[in-house]
Amino acid sequence: MNVDILWTNARNEIKDELSSLAFSTWFQDITLHSLKDGVAIFLVPMSIHKKHLSDNYTDLIQTSLNKVTGTNFELKFLLKEELEEEEDVKPKEGKVEEESQNFKQKSNLNPNYNFSNFVVGNSNKFAQAAALSVAENPGKMYNPLFLYGNSGLGKTHLMHAIGNYIVENSNRRVLYVTSDQFRDDFVSINRKDENGTNFNSVDFFKNKYRNIDVLIIDDIQFLGGATQTQQEFFHTFTNLYNDSKQIIISSDRSPNDLKLLEERLKTRFCWGLTVNIHPPDFELRKEILRKKIIAGNFETDIPEDVIEYIASNMGSDVRSLEGCITRLIAYSTMMGGVNISLNLAVECLTDFINTGMSEKNDIARIQKIVSEFFQISVEDLKSKKRSSNIAFPRQIAIYLCRKLTSESFPKIGTEFGGKDHTTIMYSVEKIENERKNNKDLANIIEKLKNDIK
Ligand code: ADP
Ligand code: MG
Repeated sequence: MNVDILWTNARNEIKDELSSLAFSTWFQDITLHSLKDGVAIFLVPMSIHKKHLSDNYTDLIQTSLNKVTGTNFELKFLLKEELEEEEDVKPKEGKVEEESQNFKQKSNLNPNYNFSNFVVGNSNKFAQAAALSVAENPGKMYNPLFLYGNSGLGKTHLMHAIGNYIVENSNRRVLYVTSDQFRDDFVSINRKDENGTNFNSVDFFKNKYRNIDVLIIDDIQFLGGATQTQQEFFHTFTNLYNDSKQIIISSDRSPNDLKLLEERLKTRFCWGLTVNIHPPDFELRKEILRKKIIAGNFETDIPEDVIEYIASNMGSDVRSLEGCITRLIAYSTMMGGVNISLNLAVECLTDFINTGMSEKNDIARIQKIVSEFFQISVEDLKSKKRSSNIAFPRQIAIYLCRKLTSESFPKIGTEFGGKDHTTIMYSVEKIENERKNNKDLANIIEKLKNDIK
């Protein structure tokens, strides 16, 4: 029998049991979509119906359906878009594996980063839980998910873990890109090909960024001041968001501290859930080291006192913790496979630990030394002020950061109050040229270099 007729009959049964207000609120606008394989699927207009109907009326609906069909059904309440999604997924089920294999290649996901090798402790358990619930319910729970925290705390790892989980458990299309990649793709639209057209690249861009279910965009702080790119990102974001596609964003700072970002983007980033990943404490650092050692399957043992030594001295950047293990193993191999002891670890890691610690503070240290020398404040150095008593020291500081650290132009720009990378490049070039012709400047730079070292 036609499901509409069945539902009309069942609904009449329900009507008799309820006040007219309750009936019109909860049953007026729902339709029975299908009765199949023991499941009755209802189409409901709003998500509040889903919760209210299943919490309060499951028994009543099941009984009335049983009266008109003679069968017990499990109930499912779906919104229109969920229903469309179910229908998209179902008929293709046999192909899921093959298709998701395809998506994997295009998704830029790193299969080595997953939930099972992400070590959880107090500092990151909220971030991990949020990531997992987004992975389980893409587009539904927290949209967008905005992860932020210092470098090396596992943001990229968690984002890939979400992507891998989704690809493994559905046939959704996932795309992982860094904000640099996004900008490059966007910029290439505006570059015409040899026939003078850019049609293909526009097509390519739209296809790549609109035809997906999950967009993961890493290190959004580098989207920087490139305003056209920001506008395009805004459109991409809005399009995906309106289609209930999941967006996951990471940054080294909170949305409000993204100084170069348009206000409307910051607002949207706060629509979903914003999660701060904190640095791992001592216990978690040790746990991460132990897990990495197990995963590495090394021939040599790494004793507990060595793990404690690394966990106490290396700071909280997990990337550097991993670096210590790699270095230690390499060192012991070079020494002809000697056992790893605390003495050996100290011998091998002292320099690494010291440079590791100082590198992190390099930009801040250079800023401090330069501003002390010129007797201005670090805030002024990072500000937008253009008076030459500030702008000139700023250019020198930028130049020194570029020459003495391995940081990129965008990263230096970010550390100087969110300046565009072109500003940074310009400063470096300007000081480079001037110091060749200006002895005083050359001397100042030499002196500052010595102070910094
Ligand atoms: P971020 O993107 O925050 O700078 P990454 O995700 O790149 O940091 O992490 C740096 C390295 O540390 C990666 O190799 C990652 O696997 C590892 N890592 C970070 N946090 C954890 C963790 N909680 N458990 C296991 N590995 C971690
Ligand atoms: Mg990262």
